[in-house]
Amino acid sequence: MNCSEPIGLAENVYYLQTGPNHANAGFVVTGDGVVVVDTGPSPACGEAIKEAVASVTSEPIAYVINTHFHSSHSFGNQAFDVPVIAHAECRAQMERARDDEWSQASVTGWLQENPDRAEEYKNLEITLPAIAFSGSGFLHIGDTMVNLIHLGNHTPDSIAVFLPEQQVVFAGDNLFNGRHPFLRHANASQWVEVIRKLEKSRFEYAVPGHGRAMEAKDVHNLRVYFESLLKTPRRRSASHLIAQV
Ligand SMILES: [Zn+2]
Repeated sequence: MNCSEPIGLAENVYYLQTGPNHANAGFVVTGDGVVVVDTGPSPACGEAIKEAVASVTSEPIAYVINTHFHSSHSFGNQAFDVPVIAHAECRAQMERARDDEWSQASVTGWLQENPDRAEEYKNLEITLPAIAFSGSGFLHIGDTMVNLIHLGNHTPDSIAVFLPEQQVVFAGDNLFNGRHPFLRHANASQWVEVIRKLEKSRFEYAVPGHGRAMEAKDVHNLRVYFESLLKTPRRRSASHLIAQV
């Protein structure tokens, strides 16, 4: 199965889990087009997200937003025939990776080691954001305001997608639930500060990059965990906790 059924978080706002890493995608039905947040780890997941949207509304998809460049959140882009919006650094990182770790030779090599994923990744084309912004911004569509908040931290391009009226925030990989955060591209010392920033936005639900949607107390607990982690003397590497997301 490439994705779960859509789970409602507020009126017209849904999220769903995609692929083996349970990478979250979400969408908001605005009355003037659907806005999709993140597209899953493969073209097949992107197609599955489109079907999930169609299962709850006949409204066409108007935009896709990438919370950051990691493949679990952007490899489904090609399934959508609409502009992808992301931070300018996201586009730059995807462009760089397209010629490096995501090159055709690299992907072919990876699929030879993972033949069971070949169907899912068939005809993969790295699809870059067409609309790129610096700093933070707003998308006004229908009666919906979407606040795009640059956070950095997990990756330099990471943004949160905040729906203030619906009180839902799609936090990308600056929040994780039920697994350890992916630190490879991150500045861990900033993590506490970023979670504090997220906590200041009024939300009923925060959708992490991976795992189930979180309530305020869950986000608070994650911040406390990072605070304790940063106070712990570094005795050994935490590399055993790192997985590609
Ligand atoms: Zn990530």
